[in-house]
Amino acid sequence: MAYQLNQKIRNLVPYEPISGTYDIRLDANESYFTLPDEIYEKALKAALSTQLNRYPDPAAKGLVRAFAEFYHIDPEYVTAGNGSDELISLIVSAFFEPEDELVTVVPDFSMYQFYAGVYGVKATAFPKKEDLTLDTVRLSAYLKSGGARGVIFSNPCNPTSLCISRRHLLQMIREVPNCLFVVDEAYMDFAEESILSVAHEYPNLIVLRTCSKAIGLAGLRLGFAIAGETITRALHAVKSPYNVNTLSQCVGTAVLSEPMYLIRCNEQIISAREALYKGLLKLYAKFRIFDTIYEPTTNFVFVKTKLAKDIYDKLLARSIAVRFMGGYLRITAGTKEEHKRLFEALEEIAKELAL
Ligand SMILES: *Cc1c(COP(=O)(O)O)cnc(C)c1O
Repeated sequence: MAYQLNQKIRNLVPYEPISGTYDIRLDANESYFTLPDEIYEKALKAALSTQLNRYPDPAAKGLVRAFAEFYHIDPEYVTAGNGSDELISLIVSAFFEPEDELVTVVPDFSMYQFYAGVYGVKATAFPKKEDLTLDTVRLSAYLKSGGARGVIFSNPCNPTSLCISRRHLLQMIREVPNCLFVVDEAYMDFAEESILSVAHEYPNLIVLRTCSKAIGLAGLRLGFAIAGETITRALHAVKSPYNVNTLSQCVGTAVLSEPMYLIRCNEQIISAREALYKGLLKLYAKFRIFDTIYEPTTNFVFVKTKLAKDIYDKLLARSIAVRFMGGYLRITAGTKEEHKRLFEALEEIAKELAL
């Protein structure tokens, strides 16, 4: 008999972000800033002096130092990855046995369940409340009673844009000391509840960060895991040795060494997020085009609307891409010009739909 793919991968389909080209891309939560010439040139100049015939530094020391310095933490607790996606994959595959339960919360970033499926780890889904907030008291009780080996979630959450407070989160981590907490802070640059600085004090915690959002380097694929000594040593031991390529290490180091620039971008993205939120609220007041607009702590706004599919299609027809998620839309903050075109398009669409 001919070779057959094994059961668990037979029906998998490749991840396909929106295909096609659109004038305005507000669908992937990327930064709208491109590097200024001066920083780009500095980074490329540094890249020119690398030796591509040699393997990269397995510990990505320079990059890790620049990351740690930017966030005021100790580099000893940091592991670099080829995007935080690689680190999620690594954690799910290496820190869990097939019989272990990995708890995910719903709704949340889909990659957690995806990797659990690929590695045959038993993933269970803990539902959020009707208002999409996470009941940490109930989750804590569930983790304690069920004997889960670990739990993974994003904070602030993609897609809900909501954030759990540092106090509630740390309380939960302390309450279930035998459970591994993987807290994905991909959007924490836009919020103020980070537990990054205390990550190493909890032997059951891994905090994940990425350069794909606030830092504006999605194309480089750079992510970081921050954890205490034991977990960090294990991460270094199980990762593929040369996981972060030389050019990404080099350019990432150059950009992370520009704190003034990064902080300015971050402030502007937060202002853009507020402007997007206010603009959508105004449309909501006028046309009832949405059911709920969640108050965002991220670089995107999440809206609930029964008209999600219609609005999404009509925006695409106007060359504006947002993310369609069932009865919801996720809209990334962009430039003033992009927002202006989005608001105009939404107003037209509201009129077309006779709202
Ligand atoms: C965008 C995003 C990431 C980033 O992944 P990278 O692989 O670092 O680009 C991680 N987690 C969440 C929740 C995200 O939305």
